[in-house]
Amino acid sequence: MVELQDYASPVRPTWCPGCGDFGVLNALKRALVELELAPHEVVIYTGIGCGSKLPDYMRVNGFTSLDGRPIPIAQGAHLANHGLKAIVVAGDGDTYGEAGNHLIHALRRNADVTIMVQNNRVYGLTKGQYSPTSPKGFPTKTSPRPEGAIDQPVNPIALALAAGATFIARSWSGDLQHLTDTTDTMVAALRHEGAALLDIFQPCVTFNPNYSYDYYRPRVYKLEEEGYDPADLNAAWEKAHQWGDRIPIGVIYQVAGRRKAELRAAGAHPGCWAAGQTRAQDLDGGRLSGSGGGIHRLRRSQDGGERGGGVRGSCA
Ligand code: SF4
Ligand code: MG
Repeated sequence: MVELQDYASPVRPTWCPGCGDFGVLNALKRALVELELAPHEVVIYTGIGCGSKLPDYMRVNGFTSLDGRPIPIAQGAHLANHGLKAIVVAGDGDTYGEAGNHLIHALRRNADVTIMVQNNRVYGLTKGQYSPTSPKGFPTKTSPRPEGAIDQPVNPIALALAAGATFIARSWSGDLQHLTDTTDTMVAALRHEGAALLDIFQPCVTFNPNYSYDYYRPRVYKLEEEGYDPADLNAAWEKAHQWGDRIPIGVIYQVAGRRKAELRAAGAHPGCWAAGQTRAQDLDGGRLSGSGGGIHRLRRSQDGGERGGGVRGSCA
């Protein structure tokens, strides 16, 4: 039985008191316990940012990539070892800015990766520049008054819908219950077969007081309490554009993972959609290419399988 204590780390977070990243950290630990996933079965891939320090504060496998690169690294590693749960945790600048292209194609391909975005609408670690989700007019060091930020902000939900995502949800770090309830957001995102995007409002109390707990608390409402159907694409598009006095949170769009359904119909193992390609690498004189090679080798030796058979044997 997996317990919360299994994920306890002696490292104390360096986040500012009141930072929304605390809520994300606590929720993620609870969600993994809810799913009975032990620390050795999980890898959290992060980029660069305040929130990307998160794996340091849990007892779990972590991979800190370059800024904007956790998504492709998570995909590559997951192709090599399907037995490890692949979770990306990164900020709005990282995911919607530097990794914008990676995000679109991971969603389009329906890669089996859960992407959680700590969206505070600012670059916090680098001390307060405007980010891809900063609203127009937001004054920062890189968007001085009187105009403030002049760019149209990214709408993450609409972007994911347009990319063909099969799971899109939103929550906020001021409501641990909503993040971790078994039918909602974080647990549902982790359960989804295929690419899942969970956008989390994560107040940066130091550099973006405009989007504080007091801003979100009276505005957010829960879609699951309104009889909302997350399979309705047109309704999801409408919810993606709702903002102001009422901001929807919850599962905004979900359909079955298409890629896996197609592969099952063809008789392939779930999660093994690139197995043929990886086996070809494996047979190439025993040399493995790509970022997941080390993990692949480890898995193969654990399986005790002969060279070339390890990937098929490791399918989970
Ligand atoms: Fe959190 Fe903002 Fe402080 Fe970074 S700067 S730790 S995002 S409150
Ligand atoms: Mg940010």
